[in-house]
Amino acid sequence: MWVTTLQAAVAGLYLGAVPAPGTWNWNLFELEGRDYVSVDQVAEFYRLPQPARSGDSVKLGTGDKGVELWVSRKEAVVNGVRFSLCFPVTEHRGQPMLSRKDLVKVFEPLMRPERIPFGKAFKTVVIDAGHGGGDRGARSRWSTEEAQLTLSVAKRLRPLLEAAGFKVVMTRIRDEFKELADRAAVAENYENSIFVSLHFNSGDSAARGVETYALAPAGSPSTASERLRMSDFQSFAGNANDGNNVLLAAAVHRRMSQLWGNAKLDRGVKRARFVVLYQCKRPSILIEGGFVSNPEDGKLISNPDFQLRMAEHIKLGILDYQSLLNEGVQYEPGMMIVMNREAEAVEVPMVETSPTAMIPRGGLPITTVAIGTNILDVTPFRPVDF
Ligand SMILES: [Zn+2]
Repeated sequence: MWVTTLQAAVAGLYLGAVPAPGTWNWNLFELEGRDYVSVDQVAEFYRLPQPARSGDSVKLGTGDKGVELWVSRKEAVVNGVRFSLCFPVTEHRGQPMLSRKDLVKVFEPLMRPERIPFGKAFKTVVIDAGHGGGDRGARSRWSTEEAQLTLSVAKRLRPLLEAAGFKVVMTRIRDEFKELADRAAVAENYENSIFVSLHFNSGDSAARGVETYALAPAGSPSTASERLRMSDFQSFAGNANDGNNVLLAAAVHRRMSQLWGNAKLDRGVKRARFVVLYQCKRPSILIEGGFVSNPEDGKLISNPDFQLRMAEHIKLGILDYQSLLNEGVQYEPGMMIVMNREAEAVEVPMVETSPTAMIPRGGLPITTVAIGTNILDVTPFRPVDF
């Protein structure tokens, strides 16, 4: 275990230098092979209430304007939206600790969305109706097949977004097969666009509910994976938009979970490296809008009225994303983001350490620069512990 303090100022990084006035010092702790910060310091930085601990639960504020974490769990509720974290919350000398990766890739974009520098002027929504043609997607006796469901919702979403002033591009408008890479590439033709992929889920017959995927940040595992792999350190085109991706996922997921209206059916914002997410050069998400394989979900999602309501909620989420990016917090009841205008002059210095187990002996330095937020995020190789 080691502790270090890093200082940064607006214009640059001060490593080992005397901190300039107005700088913020994050105390980084290396625990379990990666960097952590104390949840107390996170609360202080974002001007959240100091953490209230009860068993494994740690609360900073409540409800739509608060955060809940659980020690040893890879899960958080941030301003009412459920998230899968990159790494478990851990504990050090009785203090709950949040991984630096989650601070940078989840908390920062959600707490201060107006500081995300990219994608603010998006005018186009690319709607990707999953599957089609020879690829029927998930099927069961309980539901219309996935390839048809995705197109039905896409066709309902399109006029709603157009009425809201967006240009809409569909990756398919009929029952045809399209390669995944070709779908992601459609967004490249539209500089100011976002990409929304529609899918439906399949699992055991008891599994229900809605989940929304954003691309896993480089250096973190996908939600479905228990451990880091070497390949998890690769940075893809889509990782340039990490901040936008998670904010868009949060905004749309919040509306979708409202539609489902039952916390048990809220499976949260998750992380994966799906082709349409990692190859897409624009902010992108993938929605799994209910389970084809469950009798109750199947009946709901096959209903045209429910499909229309789903389209309406996706549209509302996209509008929320737009206003969060441009204006920051909307203080309407139930809105999702708490932010900290007073800390405007503060940048967060983040120097990455990678789990030593992932670095081959004598390997080359691993360096990634992720610019999805305006946080400096550098991954140098630390030749220690060999
Ligand atoms: Zn699918």
